[in-house]
Amino acid sequence: EAKLSGEGLMVYEAGLDERHQRQLQLIRHMAEGLSQGEFFLQFQPKVNLADDQVSFAEALLRWKHPQLGPIPPDEFIALAERSDLIGQISRWVVEQAVAQVARWSAQGVDCGLALNLSAHDVVDPALPGIITDTLRRHRVSPQKIILEITESAVMRDLNAALSNLDALRRAGLTLSIDDFGTGHSSLAQLKRLPVDELKIDRSFVLSLMPGTEDERIVDSVLRLAHALGLRVVAEGVESAEGLDVLRRLGCEVVQGYYFSRPLAADDFVRWWQQRRTV
Ligand code: C2E
Ligand code: CA
Ligand code: CA
Ligand code: CA
Repeated sequence: EAKLSGEGLMVYEAGLDERHQRQLQLIRHMAEGLSQGEFFLQFQPKVNLADDQVSFAEALLRWKHPQLGPIPPDEFIALAERSDLIGQISRWVVEQAVAQVARWSAQGVDCGLALNLSAHDVVDPALPGIITDTLRRHRVSPQKIILEITESAVMRDLNAALSNLDALRRAGLTLSIDDFGTGHSSLAQLKRLPVDELKIDRSFVLSLMPGTEDERIVDSVLRLAHALGLRVVAEGVESAEGLDVLRRLGCEVVQGYYFSRPLAADDFVRWWQQRRTV
C-alpha cells in the first residue's frame, strides 16, 4: 500500500469530496433545472465552402445552474449519462431544436439543425419514433435535421446502433459521425455505418497549418471519407490559415470560432441575415 503523509491524504480526500459533492448537487438538480428553464441551446453555423452558404447550424446545449453558474456540457452530459437523466435531456433537445427550426422557417430563416446524440440515445429503440413524431408535430422536414453521433457511441453496441441508425436514415434524417479520429473504429466498421457525413475532430483542426502533421492527418481523413462517399465537416476552425488548408484539401463544410462562436437563437438569426445581405 502506498504511504501518504497525514496531511497529503487529508487534502486528497477533501478534493475528492468536493468533486463528489458537486456531482451529486448537479445530478440532483438536473431534472428540475430542465423543467425550470435553466437549460438552453446555442447555435453555431456550419458553413458550406462551395457557396459560402449556411444551411445548418449545430445546436449545443447549455446549463446555467442557479448557484454554480454555467456548467460545461462535457461535465453535465457525462453525469447525465451515468445517472439515466440523459434520455430526458435528449428528448428535450430534440423538441427544442425541431421547434426552433420551425420558428426560423416561419421567420424566413431557411436553416436546419445538427443535434448531438449520446451513446445511450444511439441504442434507444424509442428514439427514431420520438424524432419522427416531433418532426411531424412541428411540420419540419427530416431533411432539416442532422444527427451527430460519436464513433465510440456507435461502436459500444454496433448492432443495436445499426438498426436504429438505419431506421433514422430511412426516415430521411442525415447522420454524421462526430469527433472522427479519436475513436477506434476499423475501416470495415466505418463502411457498414449508414452515415452521410464525417466530422474531423477539432484536435486535428484547431492549430491546422500548411506543412504540419495535422495537415497530413486531415488530408488522409478527407481521402478516406471521399472514397466512402461521405461529406466532411471540419470543426474547430479558428484561423484563416487553417481554413485555406481545408479549402485546398477539398473539405466541404467548416465550423469554428473563425466564423462564429455558438450564439443564442436571436443572435444567430442576426448573424445569418447579415451574411445573406453582403
Ligand atoms: P462536440 O459535439 O464535439 O461540439 C463541438 C464543441 O467544440 C463545442 O463545445 C463547441 O462550442 C466547440 N467549438 C466550436 N468551434 C470551436 C473552435 O473554433 N475552437 C474551439 N476551441 N472549440 C470550438 P461545447 O459546446 O462545450 O460542447 C462540448 C461537447 O458537449 C460537445 O462536443 C458534445 O459532445 C457535448 N454536447 C453539447 N451539446 C450536447 C447535446 O445537446 N447533447 C449531447 N448528447 N451532447 C452535447
Ligand atoms: Ca457535435
Ligand atoms: Ca465534435
Ligand atoms: Ca465531443
